[in-house]
Amino acid sequence: MMKAANTLKADVVVIGGGPAGMSAAVAAREAGAEEVVIIERESRLSGILQQCIHNGFGLHKFREELTGPEYGLRYEEMVKKLDIIVMTETMAVDITPGRVVTAVSKERGYFSIDAGAVVLAMGCREKSRGALSIPGTRPSGVFTAGTAQKLVNIKGYMPGKRIVILGSGDIGLIMARRMTLEGAEVKAVCEIMEDSGGLTRNIVQCLRDFDIPLMLRHTVVKIHGNKRVEGVTVARVDENLKPIPGTQEYIECDTLMLSVGLIPENELSKKAGVEIDPKTRGPVVDENRQTKVPGIFACGNVVKVHELVDFVSDEGETAGRAAALFSQGKSLSVSESHKNSNSHKSAVSVPREQKKGVKHLQGSGGNTVICTICPMGCKITVDKNMNVSGNTCSRGEKYAIQEVTAPKRTLTTTMYAEGGTMVPVRTDSPVPREKLFDCMEEINSKTLILPIRSGDIIIENIEGTGANVVAAGSFL
Ligand SMILES: Cc1cc2nc3c(=O)[nH]c(=O)nc-3n(C[C@H](O)[C@H](O)[C@H](O)COP(=O)(O)OP(=O)(O)OC[C@H]3O[C@@H](n4cnc5c(N)ncnc54)[C@H](O)[C@@H]3O)c2cc1C
Repeated sequence: MMKAANTLKADVVVIGGGPAGMSAAVAAREAGAEEVVIIERESRLSGILQQCIHNGFGLHKFREELTGPEYGLRYEEMVKKLDIIVMTETMAVDITPGRVVTAVSKERGYFSIDAGAVVLAMGCREKSRGALSIPGTRPSGVFTAGTAQKLVNIKGYMPGKRIVILGSGDIGLIMARRMTLEGAEVKAVCEIMEDSGGLTRNIVQCLRDFDIPLMLRHTVVKIHGNKRVEGVTVARVDENLKPIPGTQEYIECDTLMLSVGLIPENELSKKAGVEIDPKTRGPVVDENRQTKVPGIFACGNVVKVHELVDFVSDEGETAGRAAALFSQGKSLSVSESHKNSNSHKSAVSVPREQKKGVKHLQGSGGNTVICTICPMGCKITVDKNMNVSGNTCSRGEKYAIQEVTAPKRTLTTTMYAEGGTMVPVRTDSPVPREKLFDCMEEINSKTLILPIRSGDIIIENIEGTGANVVAAGSFL
């Protein structure tokens, strides 16, 4: 990287090393940018994917069902191969409209990079209790779902044992299953709306599999406890989402997990002078993902909250390619109708599997199954004579019969390694659902020794299921 009197120079600077930032950096290099820098405040790349150890990533991009760390690793390898400069443990603190990025790290102190183009890829953050104003005391034991996820999946700590989750979006649902598999009792998931905001498959595999109650049209109206949460009061809400008097119910618990929404990380975007869309709370961008400030691009969750990482990567590619062209002084074409793409629906067709909620599960009799083999998400019905309808391929028929007779699940969890590292692991094929807890017990009874590479077999034929437990991340 070139250096000019205390200020470094680069063609493209990407802020944030999550899936959006990594794919932007890769695309920028591939489009001819020579010096591409990723600035990432954490100690490694991959962003939120590191803690999303469940599977369900990459069906569109790689036509495979990967865990979050596995999806991230694919991009980390591309970043490495293309000689992209990665500055981890480095926090970007300022950007000028003229594209000078100021950052700070232990190694370099304060420094600036004069960038040909900048890509904002800082992701989003969770709404906290403060944003919800729940009355009651201020005991410990109230966590956002993402913080709890980080504690259990990265740090190896259990946030609590008896849990109520507020919010039934995918993060809330996934944490309900995760905590249950690790031995906690999830007493209820409360959802203020009349249907869950999560993917249908997550309602099935995270709640129904474990008989976790989903309390629709309910919210938490009070938190009890002094030092530690002792319980919460929940109540039904009316059509204006106001609690209905007389419907209060006390639930004893030691932990309340809040999974009530995400907001784009937009402080830096504002400093750069980019226009913020009041609806998405992220920068206004055009079809090249260029903000209203020339040469500053944005992609991924910093623009608007995305449900699927695959679309985040697509957006990163668009932004990275355009940033490379801008830094080379080439013009970017923008069609009039796409000047502000935030206000337009994504060009990518939304797969059926993404349809939301419990209602999507209600069939016309028989057993209704949402197929998860591919992103199509066919809604398949199996009647009592095992006649199957609604599938679009023979794999769907097989899946549906299996699901109603002897369901199987891919198990994803973490394993403790000497030195305190939590290594994400998965079974390499689905195991019978009733064996999940036996498999967890065997996994939790073992300690790993590093180094471990993604794909290494850790336990062969776990619990006689025929499936091996393999590492889903590399720790060298
Ligand atoms: C719990 C959960 C479950 C999910 N499940 C699925 C799923 O099953 N399937 C699926 O496809 N998608 C899923 N997603 C969605 C997907 O993971 C996200 O959409 C995607 O990770 C967003 O990528 P991003 O790069 O925009 O943001 P992030 O992954 O959040 O990355 C942003 C990065 O920017 C860094 N950063 C921020 N500010 C600065 C700064 N000032 N300086 C330096 N670095 C900075 C952060 O440290 C972070 O690494 C899930 C998300 C969550 C939270």
